[in-house]
Amino acid sequence: MSSLVLLKDLQTTLDLLRTIERDLTAFPPDLAKADADAKALQTQVDKARATLSATEKPRPQLQAAYDEAKKIEVSTRAHLKESQHQMPYAMALKELGEKERAVSAAAKPLKDLDAVIAARKAELEALEPKLDAAKAAFDSLHAIFLSEHENQVIVRGQLEAKRGELWTAMDADLKPRVERLVSQRQGKLVAEVAQGICGGCHTKLRGPLVTQLRNPAGLIACETCQRYLYLA
Ligand SMILES: [Zn+2]
Repeated sequence: MSSLVLLKDLQTTLDLLRTIERDLTAFPPDLAKADADAKALQTQVDKARATLSATEKPRPQLQAAYDEAKKIEVSTRAHLKESQHQMPYAMALKELGEKERAVSAAAKPLKDLDAVIAARKAELEALEPKLDAAKAAFDSLHAIFLSEHENQVIVRGQLEAKRGELWTAMDADLKPRVERLVSQRQGKLVAEVAQGICGGCHTKLRGPLVTQLRNPAGLIACETCQRYLYLA
């Protein structure tokens, strides 16, 4: 198969797939609503997850600060017991009091943050079952819709298989450019030339290019839109 025949074949396959995809996503009102509901809930859940993870972010640092303050307090207390008879007791007690206050000071933001985290977790946990229910409602309606469009589903499968075969058969060095055309040129990778004009971008082609097209040695691309050209 010549490259041009293959590309034209791929173009036809992609066009048919697009039409079928449109039919298979043209949902009746009840299914469209179920789809919108599920998507809206998914957005809420994603947002709630992001908020929770942003809220949890400073926690390790606060925990480390608390652990450090606690460690100092414990060692100060141990030291106080050992040195009861050597250093002025009042002074040592005062020092311990300071360390205890440092522990409380470090515990406060940690406790506050944990309360916020718990609230955010509860929000997320309230949303998750709603999302599951919305997804299940969509899935059951969607299954009915697909069973009513069984033929299109079968043809879509065949077209996808064909697209795969054509892709496998294509020259490897052509692939990056074809991929770019599919994604950036409304999925149109070939264009018919009539009266010296590219059917893809409606630009008048240079004379020598049209001459070349009459007797092509290989693939010829439009110099403006880069689509592969063939004569009408
Ligand atoms: Zn063009």
